[in-house]
Amino acid sequence: MAQVTCSFCGRNKKDVDLMVSGISAHICNFCIEQAFQILGEEDKTKKDAKQPKFKLKKPKELTAYLDQYVIGQQEAKKVLTVAVYNHYKRLGQKQESDDVKIEKSNIIMVGDTGTGKTYLAKTLAKTLEVPFCIADATVLTEAGYVGEDVESILTRLLQAADYNVEAAERGIVYIDELDKIARKSDNPSITRDVSGEGVQQAMLKLLEGTTVNVPPQGGRKHPDQKMISVNTENILFICGGAFDGIGRHIAGRLNTQPLGFSKKTNADEIDRTNLLQYVTAQDLKAFGLIPELIGRLPVLTHLDPLDKDSLKLILTEPKNALTKQYVKLLAMENVSLIFEESGIDFIVEKAVEFNLGARGLRSICEAIITDAMYELPSEEGEHSLVIDEEYARTQFEKSKFKKLLVA
Ligand code: ADP
Repeated sequence: MAQVTCSFCGRNKKDVDLMVSGISAHICNFCIEQAFQILGEEDKTKKDAKQPKFKLKKPKELTAYLDQYVIGQQEAKKVLTVAVYNHYKRLGQKQESDDVKIEKSNIIMVGDTGTGKTYLAKTLAKTLEVPFCIADATVLTEAGYVGEDVESILTRLLQAADYNVEAAERGIVYIDELDKIARKSDNPSITRDVSGEGVQQAMLKLLEGTTVNVPPQGGRKHPDQKMISVNTENILFICGGAFDGIGRHIAGRLNTQPLGFSKKTNADEIDRTNLLQYVTAQDLKAFGLIPELIGRLPVLTHLDPLDKDSLKLILTEPKNALTKQYVKLLAMENVSLIFEESGIDFIVEKAVEFNLGARGLRSICEAIITDAMYELPSEEGEHSLVIDEEYARTQFEKSKFKKLLVA
């Protein structure tokens, strides 16, 4: 009779404790044990895959990434990246070690329009491995009024997380235009301020951490939808706003209050071209944010105004700078596009003149290049187009842009 051996390792029946026979194969106790281990490991990797993974990116790594796209704003980058890094660390915090609990630090960014608040948040989102969404505070109203409830913010986050509630509960939300929900006036008015103070009140719980019933489709258009319960305790909120006119409060405060303890400090040392760098929670309160809301946004940072040099860099340097985009677009039409320094200076000058921040650069470029982008694709052969000051000026004067802006 043929010897019985394990079909997996080839051991002889007499060398093992147990041999299980199948239809046309045998397996020994050693191989069964090994197979069992493999099964266990496989199960574990499957479970790990379900758990959201966080590759801890250090603040400097995050800043280096941001630097490729966003020019300047070093202070804001530092504050944001540290907050995001700490957010990751909080998420990795072991449940047992709860004697010292790291609390989340929601952030508020103050900066003129078009200086890169949203862009910073968006760029950061690209490199993050947690769900991220951008919400707009202007559309929010107190529950029960026309507009969106604050819960709608979480609907977006859920959508960003593909409705994975666990992932959404560790996400980051950027709330734009927070200044638009400032209290309308200091006097308590007879009419309710449903889009201002009312929204601020409604946001308090959300920022701090609470369980919210979120309509998965958002809005009130689908009244029958089943609510999803989301806990906001681990969601990081970053808010941004231009806070137009806050400079007045800052200047007023600085004029009446010496900086620091030094008696020598005087008004001359204040950089009046960039008052936002001195912004404090007190100024936000004077602007119309309620103290409770300010308290829930403990990290305050500012964005610098963009001067000519920064605008020039924005136009040419970042990975997807506007000039690079136009060169690529026209190269597809066999047109080699060259931006001369004088042309770039002209575009920057106009952006400064119309006070549009970096946002104006694009519309000015469009005004200058549209004619060429209209004509050239229909022409045969290879061409080149040089944007110097003269070309830029002629096209700009011809465009409706100027009239539109003046109107
Ligand atoms: P806001 O501060 O009003 O949120 P945005 O972030 O929307 O301004 O900026 C508008 C556009 O201007 C961005 O999409 C980006 O292309 C450009 N931009 C603004 N600031 C910068 C910057 N510091 N570096 C590079 N691009 C910028």
